[in-house]
Amino acid sequence: MVNPEVIPAGHGVGLRLRRGEQIRLIDPHGGQSGDLLAFSHDGAERLSNGCTFDYGGKIYLSTGDVLWSDRSNPMLTIVADAVGRHDFLYSSCSIEMYRMQYGVTEYYANCYDNLCSAMRELGLEPAPLPTAFNFFMNVEIAADGRLIIAPPKSRAGDSMILRAEMDLAIALSACPASGCNGGGATGPLAFEVIR
Ligand SMILES: [Zn+2]
Repeated sequence: MVNPEVIPAGHGVGLRLRRGEQIRLIDPHGGQSGDLLAFSHDGAERLSNGCTFDYGGKIYLSTGDVLWSDRSNPMLTIVADAVGRHDFLYSSCSIEMYRMQYGVTEYYANCYDNLCSAMRELGLEPAPLPTAFNFFMNVEIAADGRLIIAPPKSRAGDSMILRAEMDLAIALSACPASGCNGGGATGPLAFEVIR
């Protein structure tokens, strides 16, 4: 594997991590968010935002925080984070979302399909797709509960590192939703596995 490996704009990738290995998620040009999905190696456990909020007691996650599975086991620990703001509330963008919110009529690349394809290439059935960890996605919560999607805080070259707490199948997607990425054309992401 070439390190770091680029995820082209609007594309996804799948990989496996052994327990103890780390993955660095990189925003090469700044202002770009992505989706990370994690399953246990056999697909029996899946990333859970609900369990993560429950056991961490917060919705904004950064260095030292753990991403939990739906079977209440630690999947990933954030061990470094130059950005400091990520979302774990929003569903992955989908063709239905682009139709409803962007008025798209043709096929449009989307994180839902990217994550499903990546998991299938790893031999795992993704459906029903759980909420992905939307790294670098910047969501503010107003006092009245409204959600405000702001541009990512990541600057060119910023990264975060997560450590696998079990053997994992990972899917990543460079999100093609302009509204989550500062409003213009969306860009690539990159990642590096630290073994
Ligand atoms: Zn997306």
